[in-house]
Amino acid sequence: MTTETLEFQAEARQLLQLMVHSIYSNKEIFLRELISNASDALDKRRLAALTDESLRAEDPHVAIEADKEARTLTVRDNGIGMSRDDVVGLIGTIAKSGTAEALRKLRENKESAELIGQFGVGFYSVFMVADKVTLHTRKAGEAAGVRWESDGDGTYTIEAADDVPEGTSVTVHLRPADEEDALHDFADEWKIREIVKRYSDFISFPIRMGDDTLNSMKALWARPRSEVKDEEYREFYQHISHDWTEPLDIIQMRAEGTFEYEALLFIPARAPHDLFQRDARHGIQLYVRRVFILDDSRDLLPGYLRFVKGVVDAADLSLNISREILQQDRHIQLIRRRLTKKILSTIKDLMRKDSDKYRTFWREFGPAVKEGLLDGADDQKAILDIASFASTVGDEPTSLADYVARMKEGQDKIYFMTGESRAQVVNSPHMEAFKAKEYEVLLLTDPVDEIWVEAVREYEGKEFQSVARGAVDLPSEEEPSEEKSGAYAAVLTWLNETLDEVQDVRLTTRLTSSPACLVSDADGLTPTLEKMYRAMGQEVPPVKRILELNPEHPLVSGMKSAYEQRAADPDLAETAELLYGTALLAEGGDLADPARFARLLADRLSRTV
Ligand code: ADP
Ligand code: MG
Repeated sequence: MTTETLEFQAEARQLLQLMVHSIYSNKEIFLRELISNASDALDKRRLAALTDESLRAEDPHVAIEADKEARTLTVRDNGIGMSRDDVVGLIGTIAKSGTAEALRKLRENKESAELIGQFGVGFYSVFMVADKVTLHTRKAGEAAGVRWESDGDGTYTIEAADDVPEGTSVTVHLRPADEEDALHDFADEWKIREIVKRYSDFISFPIRMGDDTLNSMKALWARPRSEVKDEEYREFYQHISHDWTEPLDIIQMRAEGTFEYEALLFIPARAPHDLFQRDARHGIQLYVRRVFILDDSRDLLPGYLRFVKGVVDAADLSLNISREILQQDRHIQLIRRRLTKKILSTIKDLMRKDSDKYRTFWREFGPAVKEGLLDGADDQKAILDIASFASTVGDEPTSLADYVARMKEGQDKIYFMTGESRAQVVNSPHMEAFKAKEYEVLLLTDPVDEIWVEAVREYEGKEFQSVARGAVDLPSEEEPSEEKSGAYAAVLTWLNETLDEVQDVRLTTRLTSSPACLVSDADGLTPTLEKMYRAMGQEVPPVKRILELNPEHPLVSGMKSAYEQRAADPDLAETAELLYGTALLAEGGDLADPARFARLLADRLSRTV
């Protein structure tokens, strides 16, 4: 094979550019990334050797060599190695989804360079400190070695190489040290020791420099909490999460007896950028007796807790366990129940003991946790217990328990309204009577709120009731009087026939100052839900709603008299259209034909000026 010069894939090139020109002050993390790749490669080789003994590595380890004269630093492992195609596919491209999004954020946030760490940009971080990088690798069990080289400017060379041992070595040609630019002397032995200790101490393979082993290899989760320094936890957290903020809380668990496991979990203090992406990474790594098995495990925690990071080390699983088997494993399901319970109860404790932390938690992760309300009854109660919601009372979100405690004499429902923003919901005409009579209403504006309110019936025996749905039945509230309904019967029937867009027209006590509003059927789709289904590409038949009129409003009573006097007047039909349009606008809805509405309104106004 001759030397080929290839281009990095477009995204990879952009990322490289960012690295080369990085102002990130934490440049030393490149070493953590290289060691973590080496450790991953050793893990992979160990797993591969379970099914093919010939792949077993003699003395698996990571070796670091520094040459102060040549200003190079080499990180070598005898792990799984890479074939030529692996190198092109894994190093030449960024396969990870969400990277484009990450890049956009990085560029937008030039000042917050610590984001680099959060995205786990991995191998490319080496170009923060390197002029040139040379990589030699040979895949375990294969004969041919590969040499790869790049100076980070958009292309790399790749060629066959002889005498490459199994595994990978990465040689970093260091840029001149420049303390002002946080370019420390990374060829300095003491600097290297310091960095390895800081970031890679718990790596389970020895990291050697000459005859010295630099890391302790102690599994943090296996040590009693009292013996572990906060700092160690923090560093471990940063290692597994790539998040540079401190975790909000730490949970350590140990189960003994028939099925033993240890768990060390971290609740982050801020949501990752991909929390709501379909392929968002899950945060739990599975070990079996200190041996890394897999990360991104989706079976150890329900999806709505995907942001929790940590390690589960189970004693009695097979090292060969696959993701498919995990799903069905009875023990894994048991662990999942226990971890879930423990996390939810930890949040409940936070709610009581540290309301600041709790509020941060709920602000960052509430929208994800609420997804759990859709998973069936299992965790519903526990999630509702730790949930909080914006409400018409107070500025801070309220728990349901507090809402219930504040319920008015005779009130037996938890009132809520869903919508796209607080302002839209608060000012919606549906709220008028509730405001006037001082009933507290929960303001639900996360997309998931639209869905869980369909799935959850009640909390502590109190039913959830949308204020924009069905008829209002405020306690002590009377239906519009028989007498009134009778007097309005004719105009209501006429309106119903005139307005195609609605399924019914009726009087209401829901309104105090607006003339009209639109409500959904007790079991009909809300407009936001309708929109969401459409956005997801689902066919939804047009949903007709009910137009409710406030008989105390002069426009409504005036319309009734006008209808009685001159039913055939074409102006009247236009008034009906305007009335309907106003109701739609008031709740933040979209008119089907805004131009027509504007023209009708302008005509009408021009007659009154
Ligand atoms: P990540 O480690 O998050 O996957 P990196 O950018 O650090 O991302 O590495 C990209 C990929 O390159 C790795 O997933 C791995 O497949 C491959 N790789 C990197 N370093 C090594 C190594 N020392 N040995 C084998 N494969 C490696
Ligand atoms: Mg990596």
